[in-house]
Amino acid sequence: MTTEFDAIVVGSGISGGWAAKELTEKGLKVLLLDRGRHVKHSEDYPTEGKAPWEMPMRGRLSKETLDKDYEIQKQTWLSEENKHFWVKDSEHPYVQDNDKRFNWHRGYHLGGRSLIWGKQCYRLSDLDFEANKNDGHGSDWPIRYKDLSPWYDHVERFAGISGSMEGLSHLPDGVFQPPMDLNCAEKFVKANLEEAYPDRKLIIGRAAHLTEPTEEQMELGRGQCQSRNQCGRGCSFGAYFSSQSATLPAAQRTNNLTIVTDAIGHSVIYDPKTKKASGVRVIDANTKQGREYRGKLVFLCASAIGSTQIMLNSVSETFQNGIANGSGVLGHYLMDHVFRAGAGGRVPGFLEKYYVGRRPNGTYIPRFRNLGSDDQSDKFLRGYGYQGGAGRGGWSRANDSTEVGVDLKNKLQQPGDWWYGMTGFGEMLPRYENHMRIDRKNLDQWGMPMVHISCEFSENERNMLVDMRDAGIEMLKAAGLKEVHGWIADDVVPGQCIHEMGTARMGHDPKDSILNGFNQAHEVSNLFVTDGASMASAACQNPSLTYMALTARAADYAVTQLKAGKI
Ligand SMILES: Cc1cc2nc3c(=O)[nH]c(=O)nc-3n(C[C@H](O)[C@H](O)[C@H](O)COP(=O)(O)OP(=O)(O)OC[C@H]3O[C@@H](n4cnc5c(N)ncnc54)[C@H](O)[C@@H]3O)c2cc1C
Ligand code: SF4
Repeated sequence: MTTEFDAIVVGSGISGGWAAKELTEKGLKVLLLDRGRHVKHSEDYPTEGKAPWEMPMRGRLSKETLDKDYEIQKQTWLSEENKHFWVKDSEHPYVQDNDKRFNWHRGYHLGGRSLIWGKQCYRLSDLDFEANKNDGHGSDWPIRYKDLSPWYDHVERFAGISGSMEGLSHLPDGVFQPPMDLNCAEKFVKANLEEAYPDRKLIIGRAAHLTEPTEEQMELGRGQCQSRNQCGRGCSFGAYFSSQSATLPAAQRTNNLTIVTDAIGHSVIYDPKTKKASGVRVIDANTKQGREYRGKLVFLCASAIGSTQIMLNSVSETFQNGIANGSGVLGHYLMDHVFRAGAGGRVPGFLEKYYVGRRPNGTYIPRFRNLGSDDQSDKFLRGYGYQGGAGRGGWSRANDSTEVGVDLKNKLQQPGDWWYGMTGFGEMLPRYENHMRIDRKNLDQWGMPMVHISCEFSENERNMLVDMRDAGIEMLKAAGLKEVHGWIADDVVPGQCIHEMGTARMGHDPKDSILNGFNQAHEVSNLFVTDGASMASAACQNPSLTYMALTARAADYAVTQLKAGKI
């Protein structure tokens, strides 16, 4: 097999899939590396369509297995249904400070977390791109909404995002397929809430599910979403966006793509004569032997922490603290979203109504705090949105019941009341102290220096959690819900929202940032980092759509520059 390519992409998740698609479609011969095993669309979804009784543990995992192998991953949606798409912490450990913990949730296999993500897709706006400049936290983004807007259009059109047009300047509309429906209880909450708060909205989530597939999507073998809501097991309909369903088949049909799995990106090779990256060193995950690939462009898309780990490990005489790290900020400004506080309540009535199917989507209440209007907070900067939804109580509502016998059984055969719940997703400020580094004395089983993370929320985020709860209670009461209650989870640490970002941030100035406005390393012109590492601030929207748009834009720029002989 040849070891020379036009471009090498490291990581095949949401960002890497896009890099592979865009670069191959522009005619480049691309090598796509992933540290995990190969996952073939449809064939390698072993639990797809299975009923609980067809799985040995009925969809659950034993406490023994969870404690032994999944100390971190078990804290989220890990189950018997999808455990093959999560790493075992026992095999992939990392180090964290006891008092500054960060949950690192990962999937190492072809397609990465594109197979298990929640598919919520929201654009950032100039409120977000200007936030660092306006309040002085973090470095100014070198781009604005107008730079990314056409690329949002581009990726939405291809990926297929369902959603409603709302005309909000701080949550721009996009190229949407028809929105999914709100159920009757959600419509009730929406109507009452919007009447009580004319400046706030409750909308259906914008989700990467096909509701009206385009011709191109169907040509790639994708079909309309069937509302089975078993997406995390993989979907043979290709109805949700993943690397397997969308970007990889698009790249493969160009005949320009070579995929090599079980290849752990170890470091980027730097050539001091050309001052460029000349390739990537990898470790074979099975044999643990090293080898090298050469490329004219290198795209790091191994997820924020993964790409930064590779960069920090790429040392040379020129870059003794990691490639393109003259500024020394590589690994710093780690962010996630503030998560795990919210409110809920009982929606009165509608007992004769039910819903059809298992809609893989929920509701969204876009940010309303600190928009420059009446809803300013003097307790925190930036803002948050709520994700939620309404459903009817099932049999598990009797878990805490003291009733027994026939009456109880009869009652549980009927659906319970309608309940609406919502959880805040808030913006975490970029702070230098929140960082990851690598520990050269502490190697993993493949000889890679282990990641060491030290990260904590500041007072700003803690105050935001309180507001998520209190504003939620106030809004749901005003919307006419009963038995309204609010909550903040006991053990809130960063990483739990699985939106890690910021460790190789973009900026104007090479002295305090790693990348320029095209995700290009200031100091190594043919090195691009297009995953969450590049984010200069977190905003409060789910970030993956922005990684897609940044990646497509960077690929376009890189190829233009390459063809012009500038890199
Ligand atoms: C349960 C869940 C729900 C989520 N919901 C949402 C949501 O609703 N909306 C949203 O925007 N985001 C969501 N996310 C986050 C989203 O999954 C990530 O933002 C996104 O996948 C990041 O894309 P990525 O390509 O940077 O990383 P990933 O998708 O994680 O892909 C990284 C790839 O790089 C590979 N890799 C890592 N290190 C190396 C190395 N050294 N060498 C070679 N390969 C390497 C990995 O194996 C992996 O395949 C969710 C995540 C999870 C887990
Ligand atoms: S809900 Fe839609 S995307 Fe999810 S598994 Fe079903 S058909 Fe696939």
